[in-house]
Amino acid sequence: MSTERTFAMIKPDGVRRRLVGEVVSRIEAKGYDIVAMKQMTIPRELAERHYGEHADKPFFANLVDFITGGPVVAMVLEGENAIAGWRTMMGATNPADAAPGTIRGDFATSIDENVAHGSDAPDTAERELGLFFPESG
Ligand code: ATP
Ligand code: MG
Repeated sequence: MSTERTFAMIKPDGVRRRLVGEVVSRIEAKGYDIVAMKQMTIPRELAERHYGEHADKPFFANLVDFITGGPVVAMVLEGENAIAGWRTMMGATNPADAAPGTIRGDFATSIDENVAHGSDAPDTAERELGLFFPESG
């Protein structure tokens, strides 16, 4: 058992489609603590740093355009095994592969617009929380 913090985000498509309540409701029902939450439009430089691991990929420019294209809801989640657990709740990156009952499986059809983000490992969570919530230490 380990209490973890992870970075979660409702992407611009999720906010635009008014899925914030639905996603937050699932997080609350699951039992994670929402330690911090804010709506923001991501500056380009922050998006490029957040997705820096994908800088060489052919989809990088499109990804940065999308994630900066409208407001997101950024969250610090805390709970037992929250990092892997939140990824499980989101489902597979490609909604075509995401199981029913997951956020991407239930609400998305396109790999480009897949509603939610979650850190994929402890070191990633620390890095992403530092980028988006520097004040939370
Ligand atoms: P995210 O980091 O956004 O939570 P993820 O960790 O499930 O998603 P990553 O491999 O980190 O997946 O990819 C980041 C984002 O880049 C994905 O959410 C998706 O929108 C986009 N992406 C990933 N792979 C592809 C691909 N092969 N073609 C197009 N877009 C892709
Ligand atoms: Mg990722």
